Amino acid sequence: MSKVETHPEIRDAVRKLCARFPGQYWRALDRERAYPTEFVKALTEAGWLSVLIPEQYGGSGLGLSAACAVLEEIHRSGANGAACHAQMYTMGTLLRHGGEAQKDKWLPKIASGEIRLQAFGVTEPTSGTDTTRIQTFAKRVGDQYVVNGSKIWISRAEHSDLMVLLCRTSPRDDNGKTSDGMSVLLVDMREAKCNGLTIKPVRTMLNHATTELFFDNMEVPAENLIGREGAGFKYILDGMNAERILIASECIGDGRFFIDRASAYAKDRSVFGRAIGENQGVQFPIARAHVQVTAASLMVDHAAQLFEAGEPCGSEANMAKMTASEASWYAADMCVQTHGGFGFAEEYDIERKFRETRLYQVAPISTNLILSHVATHVLGLPKSF
Ligand SMILES: Cc1cc2nc3c(=O)[nH]c(=O)nc-3n(C[C@H](O)[C@H](O)[C@H](O)COP(=O)(O)OP(=O)(O)OC[C@H]3O[C@@H](n4cnc5c(N)ncnc54)[C@H](O)[C@@H]3O)c2cc1C
Repeated sequence: MSKVETHPEIRDAVRKLCARFPGQYWRALDRERAYPTEFVKALTEAGWLSVLIPEQYGGSGLGLSAACAVLEEIHRSGANGAACHAQMYTMGTLLRHGGEAQKDKWLPKIASGEIRLQAFGVTEPTSGTDTTRIQTFAKRVGDQYVVNGSKIWISRAEHSDLMVLLCRTSPRDDNGKTSDGMSVLLVDMREAKCNGLTIKPVRTMLNHATTELFFDNMEVPAENLIGREGAGFKYILDGMNAERILIASECIGDGRFFIDRASAYAKDRSVFGRAIGENQGVQFPIARAHVQVTAASLMVDHAAQLFEAGEPCGSEANMAKMTASEASWYAADMCVQTHGGFGFAEEYDIERKFRETRLYQVAPISTNLILSHVATHVLGLPKSF
């Protein structure tokens, strides 16, 4: 161990829970592209998904580093927290910007698992990363918002009761502040499904329960507006730091999974009359992966500490996500190479984790956009867009 681990008790308990859901469980789901309902239920009942919800609303009121420990251990065990991680960061939008009545109504039920808040609707087919160009429009009519438009890549929509939805409530003003005029609605998907919401699953290279959403005059009660109308982009940005740090923790967990597996295999597999791990050509990539994951993990810890202290951490959260996702991807590639042909066999779980960890260089934000942020916001280079 080259680094002292935070929250050892949490890690130990999460490891024990994950041991009940071995590779066999995940492989079967992966084949069917099915949702890990039992795993999410077990995490919810053990209270691990509500660690960030304050105690007054039924959660454990812990800091972000505790949630990072939970997700890292899930991923290190070979499992995938993507089925349920969104609750941790989308809940923050409600907690930080929702009114007291909204928080009293929803947070205790989210903490207990009675209500699932797993869906986060931002991305649209035509706007891509340029969020200010979203077109989904919510028009206020009396005490309702009437929503029309569509979203793409909205994960877990079929397995969530609520969705944090970003939409325009006034048109984009090219001459003004383009991020103004967007609002956040808390959509009760159970009601919306019979009332203008269509969910269409999108099959991808990984088991991610992602979907396309269509809104056709979907009515949302005006009391479900979070915060102030028109100020929604800021609320979403606010939540993104937590999202990036938590996803980075999942990458650290993935990286450690690959390093654990590669180290064990390199010691065990004998070719040319000796363990393949005796060859430096096999050893060094494993050691390099360890160096990269450890360094990225320190960046994740740093970003989480700033977040917990209420300090600005946008750049650090971005850098943590980028270094961690690149470290986990290097480790994934190394692990396949170390296993030779067996790296491609389903029963080793490596090819599945390889596919799963690749996502994090694209979502929730792609590497180029992070580099652009660092270039312009940290280094003061000229803006390119
Ligand atoms: C499996 C999956 C799950 C997802 N889940 C969700 C979800 O739950 N909710 C949600 O809202 N979204 C979700 N997303 C969407 C995800 O956040 C986006 O895919 C991601 O932010 C990239 O946006 P895009 O796909 O529109 O790429 P684009 O914006 O079209 O970009 C395509 C490529 O061009 C590059 N690029 C674009 N502009 C520039 C530029 N100016 N300079 C340099 N490079 C540039 C990008 O880096 C990227 O590599 C998910 C995506 C996937 C694949």
